[in-house]
Amino acid sequence: MISFQETESEKILRQTVRDFALKHIAPFARKWDEEERFPLEIVPKLADLGLWGMRVPEEYGGSGMSMQESAIVVEELAKIDGSVSISVASHNALCTGHILLAGNEAQKKKYLPQLASGKALGAWGLTEPSSGSDAAGAKTRAVKKNESWILNGSKTFITQGSVGSIYVILASTSPEKKQHGLTAFILERGMPGFTVSKHIEKMGLHASDTCELSFVDVEVPAQNQLGQLDHGFLDTLSILDKGRIGIAAMALGLGEGALDAARKYAKERQQFGKALSDFQAIQFMLADSATELAAGSLLIRRAAWLQDQGRRTTMESSYAKLWAAQAGMRACDRAIQIHGGYGYTREFPVERALRDCKLCEIGEGTNEVQRLVIARGLIGQS
Ligand SMILES: Cc1cc2nc3c(=O)[nH]c(=O)nc-3n(C[C@H](O)[C@H](O)[C@H](O)COP(=O)(O)OP(=O)(O)OC[C@H]3O[C@@H](n4cnc5c(N)ncnc54)[C@H](O)[C@@H]3O)c2cc1C
Repeated sequence: MISFQETESEKILRQTVRDFALKHIAPFARKWDEEERFPLEIVPKLADLGLWGMRVPEEYGGSGMSMQESAIVVEELAKIDGSVSISVASHNALCTGHILLAGNEAQKKKYLPQLASGKALGAWGLTEPSSGSDAAGAKTRAVKKNESWILNGSKTFITQGSVGSIYVILASTSPEKKQHGLTAFILERGMPGFTVSKHIEKMGLHASDTCELSFVDVEVPAQNQLGQLDHGFLDTLSILDKGRIGIAAMALGLGEGALDAARKYAKERQQFGKALSDFQAIQFMLADSATELAAGSLLIRRAAWLQDQGRRTTMESSYAKLWAAQAGMRACDRAIQIHGGYGYTREFPVERALRDCKLCEIGEGTNEVQRLVIARGLIGQS
């Protein structure tokens, strides 16, 4: 049964990741953000904790965590750094998650151990320069030629785009079927014709790697087709049900980190002869953030629990992501307000949290797309 209380093993996991993030990420997060570079040095340390193969079964070298546990990991990392959190979340949920869901035994044996050990980082490409929310507009094309598929096109906003070495790419195999004519393929770094065409400079998540990819006559062996022909979009919907719980957990962690910083600052900073925390206006901001984040936490816990029961969570994942992303943003905004002018400087981590959190209202489906998903579910229920 679902419980409001975490199990002993969930509590231990939370504490372990918290301690890890405080020791190995917190001292460097600001520097990585300013340098705008993916911190490759953190990869083996995250691997030691088994965080690159969270949902991968132990037989393929993973940690075999539940959805609930993986959401706890993403949340705890985000409390300290959004970039590391999204790197772990996307690697696990998207590229690795797609191979886990749709891969045949040979593909799982070949790719999952590399991904789970962090020896290879995974990237996943659906978005294109002219097709984001509407996957029907995807132009990247795969055409069968003898025993291979020939890929041409481009993808944009791809997380781990230049640091990845295993890529799941969605390409159109039946253009007349629009999004229902997409098929997934596994690509490897170094395949002739496959290049990173641009590094994307972003508002936040500076230490997460985001790139544009280009495919010119890339020859992909037929055995690298992932899942059934023209089934890529349907598999994507299932992958996003899980991925959105991760983005919700990331927003929750960023909001909680900001709330914690604001709470501490409000108790220390004095104005008019009192601590800021003595002013009711400040107390109410803290109370609103705490309440909204607690509601987000419950939505995440319910969606993750349903996933762990093997259920589809299309609406529940959208509820969690839509709410947590907005609650996280509001918590970061209030945290800056409570810090006053100092909140607007880079000296305090709350401005970075707000910049990082904005992505949670956009990636893996914007707030508007989450509302469309929820509305579709409601109207379909009659
Ligand atoms: C940092 C970052 C990392 C990312 N990582 C990845 C990744 O690893 N792999 C990947 O494939 N993609 C990735 N993305 C892409 C991301 O998923 C898309 O940006 C997102 O889906 C929105 O698509 P778009 O940017 O083209 O916006 P658009 O679809 O052009 O939307 C623009 C605006 O219009 C609104 N809109 C669109 N359609 C509707 C509608 N029907 N009704 C109402 N409003 C609508 C949107 O909500 C939004 O406000 C990433 C993006 C970012 C910024």
